[in-house]
Amino acid sequence: MIEFPAIERGERLSISASLFTTYLRCPGQALAQLQGRYGPESRAAFSGMLAHRIFARHLTDGAIESDQFTAACRQEIGQAMNPKLVALQLRPSELRGVIAEVGTLYERFQTISTTGCRSVETELDVPVSPDITLRGRIDAVFDDGGGVRLVDWKTGALGGVQEQLAFYALLWLLHHGEPPAIVEAASVSSGERYEQVPAIATLTETANQVVEMIDVLRLGFVDEASVPRVGGPGCQYCPLSDECAEGKAARRVLSA
Ligand code: SF4
Repeated sequence: MIEFPAIERGERLSISASLFTTYLRCPGQALAQLQGRYGPESRAAFSGMLAHRIFARHLTDGAIESDQFTAACRQEIGQAMNPKLVALQLRPSELRGVIAEVGTLYERFQTISTTGCRSVETELDVPVSPDITLRGRIDAVFDDGGGVRLVDWKTGALGGVQEQLAFYALLWLLHHGEPPAIVEAASVSSGERYEQVPAIATLTETANQVVEMIDVLRLGFVDEASVPRVGGPGCQYCPLSDECAEGKAARRVLSA
């Protein structure tokens, strides 16, 4: 177990793995999210979310027959994704294209061994001070004889996942009193896989990074200019992209 660093009293904040990784890429974008400003919906994110819903359905209810697949996708969209569908303004033909893409991902997903899966879309909420809660949703938790393994499935390239996995491992440690044996990210589309054996030193460092983030973002509520902005590929999904000099510069480079 680790002792979570002391946090000053201040604004109540809910810190997700997604906010943490956004902060590490660009603190300015993380501040915008905390202020309720989000970038535009993207087709890729919609497709990824639908794929995750289908993977979870497979693990909880069993394999989906091919003649039931489109209906299963439409049910999942109807249950939780309609606002995103409306925001994207997908035409019926485009939606069929998304469902076909998810179908290809599902075929690959079915080749992955799911032996030992003990829970799916596991939500963890851990208060670490009177004002701060850390939270995350873990795609799947396995216990197949070698200890607990947390798995995050990606529907695109793996990218940099170390910090996200360390955040999940920290959450697990704080919630259960011991770290998972392994945290893993696996790309269903490319087959890439990355695993981490969480060390206490790494999780202590992650906890320190979270506290530093909280300090920076809280200061940003009163002095927005104090929060650094770091341009990169994430600028295209940032709500500040039209007003941010760093973001405009990054987009010029990316479009050149
Ligand atoms: S546009 Fe880019 S640099 Fe500017 S805040 Fe957003 S992510 Fe950061």
